[in-house]
Amino acid sequence: MKPFAYTRASGVDAAISALNGHPDAKFLGGGTNLLDLMKMGVERPSQLVDISRIPLTAIEEHVGGVRIGAMASNRDAASHPLIRERYPVLTEALVSGASPQLRNMATMGGNLMQRTRCYYFYDPSYQECNKRTPGSGCAAIPGYNRDHAILGASDHCIATHPGDMAVALAALDAVIQVKGPRGERSIALKDFHRLPGDSPHIDTNLQPGELIIAIDLPPLFYGRRSHYLKVRDRNSYAFALVSVAAILDIDGDSIRRAHIALGGVAHKPWRVPEAENALQGKKADETAYRAAANLILQGAKTQRYNAFKVELARRSIVRALTTAAARA
Ligand code: SF4
Repeated sequence: MKPFAYTRASGVDAAISALNGHPDAKFLGGGTNLLDLMKMGVERPSQLVDISRIPLTAIEEHVGGVRIGAMASNRDAASHPLIRERYPVLTEALVSGASPQLRNMATMGGNLMQRTRCYYFYDPSYQECNKRTPGSGCAAIPGYNRDHAILGASDHCIATHPGDMAVALAALDAVIQVKGPRGERSIALKDFHRLPGDSPHIDTNLQPGELIIAIDLPPLFYGRRSHYLKVRDRNSYAFALVSVAAILDIDGDSIRRAHIALGGVAHKPWRVPEAENALQGKKADETAYRAAANLILQGAKTQRYNAFKVELARRSIVRALTTAAARA
């Protein structure tokens, strides 16, 4: 591992100042992804600014919704009564991720920053990886690409965002609060992660030196009629092949509103507003869900080993919506 300097920040402003002028420095939260990447030589920061003691752990009501501090652990957010009662899809997504030990350490802000689990990205013995080394190529496109993207990929990268939490946050229309050298700003979750395009080495729209300070969940009176479905190769401690966060507002047997976000299929949580709008006014049944799934998956582009994901995603969307609809 490359030697690095270590600083512990006592507050948000101190952390931002410590990073200022050090373009290859990194914030260290729970460290559940960054430290692995450093040990493997994928991340090589010159300095770590430890933000784990910054008291941004509150989970509280905020303008009708809930604000989650960026340093709250995944465990604490998943088990908090405000989240369990109002946004159970987020609890389901969080507890489906990683292991209890990792959820104890992982922070809400850090979860958003985790990097793809593309095997070629993690193994520096493969020299071709545009995400690790811009301009070097992509070993996954001609290689083994079973876990890779079917939507929104580019000729430069077909990696997926690996998280579950962000998929639920996308369905919930969460807003990320950040602070940096130029002050505070808000970023809608849908705009937080980027598609790979021709710069897959940039995962998010955070500006240099910006720190995530909170995640805001807007009020959602129908949030209990929801489900997070994660489909994976084994039932625990595995990343999603496909996941679906589904939330429905139903009046009688007619759909008033639908929120559907997909994970495991793209470089960011995937939402298609046209598909959600098309469900409005429709009878809440499998015919409508299947039509929405077809719209969501329009334009899917598969690789040699991941064509199965299209039908898997279609069935997962139908199942997630069916399960959500059955919940009161
Ligand atoms: Fe690298 Fe992306 Fe290709 Fe994986 S898919 S090898 S992360 S460029």
